Amino acid sequence: MSTPTLNISEIFHSIQGESSYAGWPCTFIRLAGCGHGCRHCDTAYAEHPGREMNIEEIIERVVELGAPLVEITGGEPLLQEEVYPLMEKLCNRWKERVLLETGGFLSVAKADPRVHKIIDLKPPSTGVSDKNNPENIALALKQKDHANRLIELKIVVADREDYLWARELLTRTGLPDACTVMMGVAFGMLEPVNLANWILEDRLNVRMQLQLHKYIWDPGRRGV
Ligand code: SF4
Repeated sequence: MSTPTLNISEIFHSIQGESSYAGWPCTFIRLAGCGHGCRHCDTAYAEHPGREMNIEEIIERVVELGAPLVEITGGEPLLQEEVYPLMEKLCNRWKERVLLETGGFLSVAKADPRVHKIIDLKPPSTGVSDKNNPENIALALKQKDHANRLIELKIVVADREDYLWARELLTRTGLPDACTVMMGVAFGMLEPVNLANWILEDRLNVRMQLQLHKYIWDPGRRGV
């Protein structure tokens, strides 16, 4: 029987740029394929088929790169069934230092409970805000009673309409009481000072972030 494989767009070592782990050196495993069709997708190249690698080969490469943190990302990583055993094996080795970043259209319910899940909430400017999976919001809300919160939400705002959408959602659901909500600007589309002022004016209980890697390196560069 052949060893199951995952289709990998790239594996690289960089600085984690967008989450409560921003700033840490991190090895990224980018799975190929997505199909959600967000407007302004900054990793459209991950739509193309990549290289087939089995889990042992992936882990070997992650070990070689030597970062303290590992992130599975995409594309949409939850589209490939073998991502689940990959998460399990990574957690067995890197314990709580494994992150999963997902576009938020698929539920994270089946992901290894030890994985720190970063879920995108797509606002209107992406053209796909109606595809945010409500189960992910329900799972995030359930964390209210738990000290160990392993789901965080990320909202990338491109304009005032996105911000108002996010504000309404967060206020209505009470999500900021249940999980960390990271809110940032879409690079080059909104001045960070505008978002900062809106958050402060509204006393919004979110954590502002910038896409760190886009300030460190050329914003169009791959593999960072
Ligand atoms: S979910 Fe991510 S990778 Fe997929 S289209 Fe949207 S931004 Fe691009």
